[in-house]
Amino acid sequence: MRYLFSFVVLSLFMACSEPVPSSSGTNPASPGQTPAVETASVRDDSSTDSDWPFGYMAAVANPYATEAAAEILAQGGHAVDAAIAAHTVLGLVEPESSGLGGGGFMVVYQQDDKQVKFYDGRETAPAGATIDMFMRDGSELGFFEAKESGRAVGVPGAVALYKLAHDAHGKLPWAAVFQPAIRLANEGFVVTGKMANFLSGFRQYTMLDEFEGSAEYFYPGGEPLQAGDFLRNPEYAATLTRVAEEGAQAFYSGEIAEAIVTAVQAEPNPGTLTMEDIANYQAVARDAVCGDWRELQICSATPPSSGAMQIMVANIYDGLVTEDSPLMEKVQAFVDAQRLAYADRDYYFGDPDRVDVPLEQLLNTDYLNYRSENPIPPADMPTHGDPAAILGNGTAAVWMEDSTAEPAGTTHYSIVDDDGNAVSVTMTVESIFGSARWAAGFVLNNQLTDFARVYDPDEPEAANAVRPSARPRSSMSPTIVLDSNDDLYMVTGSPGGNSIPAYTAKTILGIVDWNLSVAEAISFPNIIARGQAVHVETGMQPGAEVASYLQEAGYVVEESQGENSGLHVILVHEDRLEGGADPRREGTVLARTPQDQ
Ligand code: GLU
Repeated sequence: MRYLFSFVVLSLFMACSEPVPSSSGTNPASPGQTPAVETASVRDDSSTDSDWPFGYMAAVANPYATEAAAEILAQGGHAVDAAIAAHTVLGLVEPESSGLGGGGFMVVYQQDDKQVKFYDGRETAPAGATIDMFMRDGSELGFFEAKESGRAVGVPGAVALYKLAHDAHGKLPWAAVFQPAIRLANEGFVVTGKMANFLSGFRQYTMLDEFEGSAEYFYPGGEPLQAGDFLRNPEYAATLTRVAEEGAQAFYSGEIAEAIVTAVQAEPNPGTLTMEDIANYQAVARDAVCGDWRELQICSATPPSSGAMQIMVANIYDGLVTEDSPLMEKVQAFVDAQRLAYADRDYYFGDPDRVDVPLEQLLNTDYLNYRSENPIPPADMPTHGDPAAILGNGTAAVWMEDSTAEPAGTTHYSIVDDDGNAVSVTMTVESIFGSARWAAGFVLNNQLTDFARVYDPDEPEAANAVRPSARPRSSMSPTIVLDSNDDLYMVTGSPGGNSIPAYTAKTILGIVDWNLSVAEAISFPNIIARGQAVHVETGMQPGAEVASYLQEAGYVVEESQGENSGLHVILVHEDRLEGGADPRREGTVLARTPQDQ
């Protein structure tokens, strides 16, 4: 098992140096294993006058964090309050995926005015970042050297994101939402298999067992923590207590910020991050990107992230199928839609405050129809389109082709509160344990490796080039789908690096068009079509059938075993909520109906 695990980790990181990365990820379960999807269903048989009769539900990536969300929801908290509680616990029990040292994106549905809001807590590069900071002597730094360098660390956005969203939506006092995590960090928790597997399987590649703070915490006495070990993190509790009592600025100044700067500026390959960079950090409220699909409206994370791909994929897909197409034809259409949408995403998306992302044109119905009508032959490398030319609006910007890999180290959770407000949140430290550098009780991100790391002075810049104080492009796609009355219909999203748009779109198409339940849609094989090869998860049924169907149709198919999705989905039926947690990770679903109260 240990050998197998190391192999999977190695595949993941070897993939990073390839032009178009393998989607293979790491999975605490054995490849091929198909544990049951954790689900919950909440039926409404109460006669309440409330606009929202279904109670609450939380689908989160770790049982401690699901419980923290439920605790806050039971106190009457808004979904945003529960989201902060869940995430501060995830940062403790699942630090390989996300935490205070990272950032993320939150989409919020506010039930009373039926508005969808979007909050961008993406990390920013320091003012001293340079376009070639991941190059040496004309070649790209090796992935691990870059990942665990100080140069990879962006200013963490999580705490500022909490503050922005809490100010706009929170119902419970700011300090209250931190209490579950402070309590758990002080009292202790049991280490799970996922964290422990990474600590041993990943050790030979990382400096996590060398950096001060990380080494003592994760490798006490020089040995990796094991599943079942009991762990406390009083340093994390102290940091959270300061943020709870003094406010978000306690994170962006003073001792916590100093600890971050010290860790980033440490050898090897120190970064330029300063106290000023940290103090200048702003989370941003942007318009969510929303687009029609059939009678539904899909709302997701706008650039610098890639939520718009959900709208692109669904609409291109519709141009390639009919209602009566058999499932395998529909899967093929899903593959073609992804190939086209990924090619456009890879070429055009970057920090919207720094480059002009032609989002309206890319989502224009005529352009999407044009893309459906001109699929790329199966064995060919998909190429980006030129929406400006197709729509008669001039020509597109010229960028360098960018196939930056984003290895997986992220978490996604979906929450609906007692009033029918919802959050879809994806948070990340980028790769497993981020930069492996430790500050004030948590690991720091390596998010800046999500920029196009390759720089060639003789080529045009990439849209996603490293720029001072900019945000790197992301694949994270926290998504909320509304029905034709703008009522909540679905909350979905996943971790998984570059594969996130594919994972997430599978749940939308699966539930709406392939008549799958939430559990079936989550468990359906992951199929990722970015670049020339199509990755098909053959350990889940009907993965083998999909792989041979696509092969016969002429696609370059790579069978993938360790898909690292972490889909957490909530679906609103006419009379109930249905939720599911991905069996490929450790998540759970908790719910309470009005009559349980
Ligand atoms: N850093 C990636 C992104 O922002 C996410 C990595 C992951 O999902 O594991 O898209």
